[in-house]
Amino acid sequence: MRLLGVLGGMSWTSTEAYYRLLNLGVGERLGGLHSARIVLHSVDFDEIAVRQHAGDWEGTAQVLAEAAAGLAAAGADGLLLATNTMHKVADVVQEASGLELLHIADATAAAISARGLTRVGLLATAFTMEETFYVERLARHGIEALVPDPVGRADVHRVIYDELVRDVVRPESRERYREVMADLVGRGAEGMILGCTEVGLLVGPDDTTVPTFDTCRLHAAAAVDWMLAETSA
Ligand code: GLU
Repeated sequence: MRLLGVLGGMSWTSTEAYYRLLNLGVGERLGGLHSARIVLHSVDFDEIAVRQHAGDWEGTAQVLAEAAAGLAAAGADGLLLATNTMHKVADVVQEASGLELLHIADATAAAISARGLTRVGLLATAFTMEETFYVERLARHGIEALVPDPVGRADVHRVIYDELVRDVVRPESRERYREVMADLVGRGAEGMILGCTEVGLLVGPDDTTVPTFDTCRLHAAAAVDWMLAETSA
């Protein structure tokens, strides 16, 4: 089994879910007492979030590049950046480590295409919804992402940073997410990307009329495939 390097802590509430999914996935595939071979670097999220909101992406990239190089030095064969938002600096992080990076948007796009869908809603941080790095990556796979209106985007972003990354799940926030998703469906979304790795803690398939694509689950499943893939070496 390949050794997976995980850059986590963004936030820890989703890294906890990743850890569980990775181990469950390997256990299901191999049976017995098999579990995932992982080396994890879990960052202090405050350091990252403060820089994100100040627009200091270079600073975030530096923190993550150092951590990724450490994972490579620890023997990781590949890298999983356990957050959608920080894929904004994925190239820098990947280069610093010299490792293969399992891109979260590619894993998500593959699942959407497998369902035959091409137009989906995107619930994520403002950075992921409003900047080009994520939406363009999906477009390369032939997928059009619809984002909520400005008020919807602000609400979705606020719930992530004020609640979900702090391990707080509020019914009224779930209700608001349902409204935002219903609006996106009304605008033509055929599916819904839970495009922040914590969003699956709040909403799921029962909260909307269209199929959901939980990036945390899809990314973890792609990583299990990668860990267990036959290598030529
Ligand atoms: N986990 C979130 C994401 O998937 C947000 C936290 C972060 O900014 O990394 O985008």
